[in-house]
Amino acid sequence: MNAIKSYGNIITKNLSDSKKALAYLKLGLNIAGVYLSLFPDRKVPASLQFLQKICVNSIKDYFNHPDNSMWVNIFSPTEILHAMGVNPLFIEAYSGFLAGISIEGQLIDAAEAAGISNSLCSFHKVFLGSGELNLLKKCKMSITTSMICDGNIGTFRYLSEKYQTPLYILDIPYEYNKENVNYVKNQLQEMIRNIEEIFGRKLDMDRLKEVIARENQSKELLKKYLENLALKNLSTSMTYELYMLFASHVFLGREETLSFYRMLLEDIQRAPDRRGKGIFFIHVPPLFEKNFIKYFNFSPEFSILGFDLNYDFLDEIELRDPLEGIARKLLLNSYNGSFDRKIALIDMLMEKTRPDGVIHFCHFGCKQALGGIYLLQRYFREKNIPFLTLDGDVIDKKNNQEGQTKTRLEAFLEIIRNR
Ligand code: SF4
Repeated sequence: MNAIKSYGNIITKNLSDSKKALAYLKLGLNIAGVYLSLFPDRKVPASLQFLQKICVNSIKDYFNHPDNSMWVNIFSPTEILHAMGVNPLFIEAYSGFLAGISIEGQLIDAAEAAGISNSLCSFHKVFLGSGELNLLKKCKMSITTSMICDGNIGTFRYLSEKYQTPLYILDIPYEYNKENVNYVKNQLQEMIRNIEEIFGRKLDMDRLKEVIARENQSKELLKKYLENLALKNLSTSMTYELYMLFASHVFLGREETLSFYRMLLEDIQRAPDRRGKGIFFIHVPPLFEKNFIKYFNFSPEFSILGFDLNYDFLDEIELRDPLEGIARKLLLNSYNGSFDRKIALIDMLMEKTRPDGVIHFCHFGCKQALGGIYLLQRYFREKNIPFLTLDGDVIDKKNNQEGQTKTRLEAFLEIIRNR
C-alpha cells in the first residue's frame, strides 16, 4: 500500500511535466506487471490474480501502443475491436486506476479549472483532467454509446476535439424493436467502415464470429459461477469485483477472458461454503471507502456477492448475423430502456445469490444510479431483503463522509447480523 502511495506521490510531483509523469506511469505499470507475476497474493484466488494481470496489461498496452488503441466506454461493442486486433482503453477503468494511486484530486481540479462542471461524475472528471494535464496518449479513434450514462458523449466529444481524434457515437434508442435493431446495425456498419479506413485493415467476419462464440462461452461460465454464489464464499475484495467489469464488458470475447471465466468457475466450486452473511451491491461498490474496506474486503463475516452491472446482458449473441446480434445486445442491456428491466435483472440476481442484504452506493453525479431509487426501495421492501442506500463517491475520496457512512453502515450490518 505504501509503495502505491509513494508511486502516486512521484506522479503528483511531476504532473506539471507531462512527459515525465507519463514516463513514470508507464514505468509503474511495467513494474506492476512483473511484480504480479513474481509475487502473487496467495490469499486471492488464482482467477482473480489472473484477472488483475489482464487489467494492468490493458492499460500498459495502451501506453505502449497508442496507435493501435481506442478510447471506449464500458458499453462499446468491443467485439469488433478484438476481431480487428485493436486495443480498447476503457476510460472508466483508467480513471479507477488513477484514483487507485490517489492522484484523482489533482486531475479533478484540473478538469474543473478548465470549466468542467463540478457536478459531473468523477469517473469522467478524472479522465478529462488527465486529458487536461496531458496524461493521455493520443489514440487513433474513440467510440462511445449514448446509452445509460449521460456524461459519456460530452466527455468523449471534449477529449476527441482536444486531441484531434475521430469519434464515433453509437446512438442506442430506448425501445427494443425491429426498426431500432436495423438502426443500430446500420450504425455499426458505418462505424466499422470508419475503423477500417483509420486503421487501414479490414474486419474479417469469421474472426468476429470467433470472438462472439468465445463471448457466448464466457457467458455460460459466468451463469454457472452465479449458480454457486448462494452457497460458496469466494475470498474477494471490492477492487477485484470491479476488475470483473473488464471481463464482463470491454474484454469479452478474448481468449484470456474465456480462460479467466474457466478459472473463476473452478475457484468458486472449490471455495468453502458460505458461512457469513452475503451482501450484494447495486451499481458499483465504493472500493476506496475506508468503512467498506474494513467490513467487506476478504471478510469471513460479510461476503461480497457481486454487483448487478457485471450481469447486465447474459443472453447468447446469435452467430448467424453478428452485427444484428451486437445491435440486440446493446438495445436489450438491462440498464437500457425502462427501469422494469433493471428490476427484472435484480430479481433474477436475488434469486440466484440469496443475499442477506443489499447496498446501493449512490455515486455522486450519476443520474442513472439515483434514478429509480424509490422503485428499488419498494422492490426490496416487498421481498423483505434489507436494503441500504448511501450517498458518496466511488472515485473522488474527498466527497465521502466517513463518519456518517460508518454510522449508517454499521447500523445496517447490525440488522443483518441479528436476522
Ligand atoms: S457512474 Fe454513472 S455517470 Fe459515472 S460513468 Fe458510470 S454510469 Fe456514467
